[in-house]
Amino acid sequence: MPKKFYITTAIDYVNGPPHIGHAFEKVQADVLARYNRALGNDVFFLTGTDEHGAKIVRSAERAGVPVKEFVDLNSKKFQELTRVLNISNDYFVRTSDREIHWPAIEKMWRELEKSGDIYKKIYKGLYCVGHEAFITEKDLVDNKCDIHKTQPEIVDEENYFFRLSKYTEKIKQKIKSGEFKIVPESAKNEILKLAEKGFEDVSFSRPSKDLSWGVPVPGESSSTIYVWGDALVNYLSAIGYGSEGFKLQASRSTGPRMFRLSAKIF
Ligand SMILES: [Zn+2]
Repeated sequence: MPKKFYITTAIDYVNGPPHIGHAFEKVQADVLARYNRALGNDVFFLTGTDEHGAKIVRSAERAGVPVKEFVDLNSKKFQELTRVLNISNDYFVRTSDREIHWPAIEKMWRELEKSGDIYKKIYKGLYCVGHEAFITEKDLVDNKCDIHKTQPEIVDEENYFFRLSKYTEKIKQKIKSGEFKIVPESAKNEILKLAEKGFEDVSFSRPSKDLSWGVPVPGESSSTIYVWGDALVNYLSAIGYGSEGFKLQASRSTGPRMFRLSAKIF
């Protein structure tokens, strides 16, 4: 029986076109995918684009283009990148894909609801659009986010949270035992140090008045699912989670491919 080998890149954020760093990552993943195919393993190689969020809406506004058109255009550039680099990905996932990606999110949300892992609470905090996340006072220099050099918004809202804190011990054990492998060792130790303090629950939704470009919380149109409950699900949706019975069309052609290089998209 051939061994299953599933490899993914990060999915790229489409608030801008690809750059050389994206190309580098795809090529590295491609090498591993091709190597494993050569060993006779059953390989599935995934890449794609992360297309929701307030930062994308703002980038589209700045470009003067409707947001759907903006993400289509930039996602196409990333797809073109895989073509010109002759990347052998089996599928290209898009988080704006309502047929394949969205049903997976909904399924996961329902599962988490059932297991009691998501709950609602009022949250007060500082929100940095650049981070697409809440930051704390210690991230500020002169009242501005030290990374993005912008003033955070003061936010007081009711959001869904995922009970990550409940899983601190379990995650710690799996990392220590090597079941979850983190390399290099320094990164592993860093995560274990965070785990010692205990993980905090993670915001899983934003009010749709502030985040309209995204997937609505099932049965609640006033909330939009936040990046953690949306983008990360791509690793499941692309292999059929939530669309059981739906056969994904591999985007890779089966015949030999012409190797072409073009610098024009950078
Ligand atoms: Zn920031």
